[in-house]
Amino acid sequence: MTAKYFVHAILGCLILCSTIGIAQEGRRGPPLPANPLAYDLLLRGGHVLDDKNKIDAMRDVGIKDGKVAAVGANLNPKDALKTIDVTGLYVTPGLIDLHVHVFAGTGERGSYAGDLSVYPDGFTLRNGVTTVVDAGSSGLRNFDDFKDKIIDRSTTRVLSMLNIVGAGMRGSKYEDNLEDMDGKLTGEKARQFPGVIVGIKSAHFTGPEWKPYDQAVIAGNIANIPVMIDYGTRRTERPLLDLVSKHLRPGDIYTHCFSGLRGEQNSETGLASEALLVMKKRGIYCDVGHGGGSFAWTVATPILKGGYLPDSISTDLHVGSMNNGMKDLLNVADKLMVIGETIPQVVAQMTSHPAHEIKQEQLGNLSVGSGADVAVLSVETGSFGFVDMYNTKMLGTKKLVCELTLRDGKVVYDLNGMSADMWDAKDHSADARQSRRWTTFNERPYASPHGQRFPQSSPVGEPIPPTPK
Ligand SMILES: [Zn+2]
Repeated sequence: MTAKYFVHAILGCLILCSTIGIAQEGRRGPPLPANPLAYDLLLRGGHVLDDKNKIDAMRDVGIKDGKVAAVGANLNPKDALKTIDVTGLYVTPGLIDLHVHVFAGTGERGSYAGDLSVYPDGFTLRNGVTTVVDAGSSGLRNFDDFKDKIIDRSTTRVLSMLNIVGAGMRGSKYEDNLEDMDGKLTGEKARQFPGVIVGIKSAHFTGPEWKPYDQAVIAGNIANIPVMIDYGTRRTERPLLDLVSKHLRPGDIYTHCFSGLRGEQNSETGLASEALLVMKKRGIYCDVGHGGGSFAWTVATPILKGGYLPDSISTDLHVGSMNNGMKDLLNVADKLMVIGETIPQVVAQMTSHPAHEIKQEQLGNLSVGSGADVAVLSVETGSFGFVDMYNTKMLGTKKLVCELTLRDGKVVYDLNGMSADMWDAKDHSADARQSRRWTTFNERPYASPHGQRFPQSSPVGEPIPPTPK
């Protein structure tokens, strides 16, 4: 490279980089004024359920710079730019859905690395879910594409369990291919993305061999992460009891634990099978993974009533489950409440428990200093039907509803406009110049008075105001 060419290259970069900088600054808007107050946002008057910190009480939650700044009784609204009254509602850590399929956008038909997956943000934030774990839609060779297409572009925090099959979850032709299950390479790939690849998945295997499970454990040992098992086709050559007593490690996760399809239920008593009891004894976690075919009333009811609770509630969200018996994460929680679980129990199973299972202890709690992912839930009462995998229903009287979701301290979903001003209010309830500190929504322009007619066009010579997104 000549010196002249080098100078040109540097100049070119300077111009390009500053242009990108301006473009990004334009999208973000001008810098925010400093906030001298203790909080950007205060959630006031709610009932906090924070299993990790053993809080089940009326508490206010103060948030600043995207983090939980204080949890206490009677925090002062004068210390916050914006206060939202959440009286009568539960305030919980942002929910974690431990089992979803969100590798959409590749265009591949009939594939969970494609059309069988959904884009996360349309299903999560409106349900109080701020973190999802994609359970094996991608493998060693298409994880980078998954990260680029989904993980890096979603408002929802998307974590991944890497499929032990290098090609990912693309149908039986791939998922039964014993030649494409390399624990060492998969574990090394996982180790490159700590905190993003949080587990190894085996799923849908139809063969009699133990190889997928043993290779998954090899990968899990290399990256120090759990494996999650969807036990595929029931085979007499590999009984569930052997899987959980000889092949899996304490800390691994057995999903679809109430399907009853692979030996989870004692066929004589209807209670938890010996395999499930061994799981509990060894510290292998029981995950619901409702999906389209993994939650039966006849299985879940006697097992739960017999005292065997799942460790985590998850949806197994995908196009085949999203509109049938399984509706969303709160719907799955409602079902466990119909059987007899309490609201604090199901909230723990969607917050601190899954965070612990994937060794991401910073998630799923409202500790001071934690990222302020928060769900605000109401309890609707009435007569509701809850449908399982066989289109049979149980009736219940309570239903959890997501009212408000915060991601990193900002409102990303608000069902009934709790954070909004009345349309004809004379004054803003908060300084709109600071609104980007506590919401992702557009606010009325600062100081625009009640009844103002916004001009249809800008007068000649005046700068055109930015169009709200
Ligand atoms: Zn699944």
